[in-house]
Formats: sequence, C-alpha cells, structure tokens
Amino acid sequence: MNDRLAIEQLAAAIASASSITVLSGAGISTASGIPDFRSDNGIYTKHDNVEYLLSEGYYNREPKQFWISFKHIFQLQEMHKYEPNAAHYFLAKLEQQGKKVTIVTQNVDGLHRKAGSSHILEAHGSIDHAHCPKCKRVYPLSYVMEKPVPRCEDDDFILKPDVVLFGGRVRHLDEAYEAAAHCDLFLTLGSSLEVYPVKELPHYAAQSKQTTTAIINFQPTALDRHFDFVLHQELVAVFTELEKLLS
Ligand SMILES: [Zn+2]
Repeated sequence: MNDRLAIEQLAAAIASASSITVLSGAGISTASGIPDFRSDNGIYTKHDNVEYLLSEGYYNREPKQFWISFKHIFQLQEMHKYEPNAAHYFLAKLEQQGKKVTIVTQNVDGLHRKAGSSHILEAHGSIDHAHCPKCKRVYPLSYVMEKPVPRCEDDDFILKPDVVLFGGRVRHLDEAYEAAAHCDLFLTLGSSLEVYPVKELPHYAAQSKQTTTAIINFQPTALDRHFDFVLHQELVAVFTELEKLLS
C-alpha cells in the first residue's frame, strides 16, 4: 500500500472510530524539539552512568546530588520552552469531538496535557510535579525550579520527582493493556517499540479483530508486521495531512 492511500484509509478509520488508544513515544516529543534521551546525541551517550544517576538508589543515598544531575539531564530549566505539535493537538481535538481517546505515553514532558488531552496514562511519570515522600504533598515544576535542591515547605524533606526512576515501577500498566485491548483504533506514534513493557501493547491491540491498528514512526520497527497501517514518515507531516483530510 502506498503512503497516500494509507493516510486516506487511516483518516477514514479515525473518522469512524469512537474509541481510540494511542501509544506515544519519544518521536512525538522530538517533533516538538525535545531531545531524545536515547538518540545518538542524547543523554544516554553523553553520560555513561545515566541509569545510576536516574535511579531510586541514587535518590535514596544522595538526594542532593541526585537533584543536580536530574535537573541537568532533563534540562528542566528549558522545559517550559517546548510546545505541543500538530500530532498532540490532533489527538486533543479528537477528544473534543466526543471520541474516547486514551493516551499511553512513555514521555515525561507533559505535552499531551498542555495540548488539551485529558485521559493520559503516563507510564514513566511526569516532570510536571514532584512530591514529598514524607507527607505526600505535591509540588509543581515551578516550585521545584526555585532552588537547586527542592524541599518540602512543611517538613523540609527533600522532594522526589514524579518521573519513574530506574528501579521504580512503570505506572498504569493494567489500564494501558485494557485500553489497547478494547478500542476501535490503536495508534502507535513515534515509538520504536523497543522498551518493555510498552512494546507489549500492540500485541494486545492486534488480538481484537475489531481493532484497526496503525504505526507512524520514522524508522521501521521489529513489530511493524502486527499493524494494519505502517507509515515511516515524520509525525507532524502525517498529522497535518490527516487534519486536512478530516476537516
Ligand atoms: Zn512534606
């Protein structure tokens, strides 16, 4: 199937779907300019011990140093600059049109929320908040950025980010499997499907005969054969086209 035909058929599938589950990966964020941590220029290659610097163990042992590294690695002071792109806004608009849209994301940048989507399962947590492990009070990113090492106003305890750290548990997994298994349309966007457990989701979606499945990712993935539609294109270009076809 050529790409043009695939996009037209995908547009028709989107128009007729009443419930849509989306799995979004780093590609939807890089399209907004956010560096991909796993790319050749990303932090995984610049810092050889990132898995340690972003681990539960490091936070527990050296929370002050942890925060310095955490802010540096995620470039938190830059985060407010990034805006959602055509793909994020398209998904938010589908929800405004009355469709049930569940977004399972590996991204921690909060751009789906910023675009206006409301049902988002952030499997790896979010940089938008931190909390006090002692009293559980939640603090916004703006508070976290006020001082190098953020502490709870009530008990002076050092805060913990709401990003899932290495050694921590991936979140909302049962809900994500459920949403993948029960939808009219399952869309994978900008994910190379290499990271467990999200790479299991297409299998859940493919098991249902009623579910149409599509993947839009610039690079081929090992799971492409499980999808009805496969597009190796830039997300923003595809969603700009989809927007035109559906308006
Ligand atoms: Zn506290």
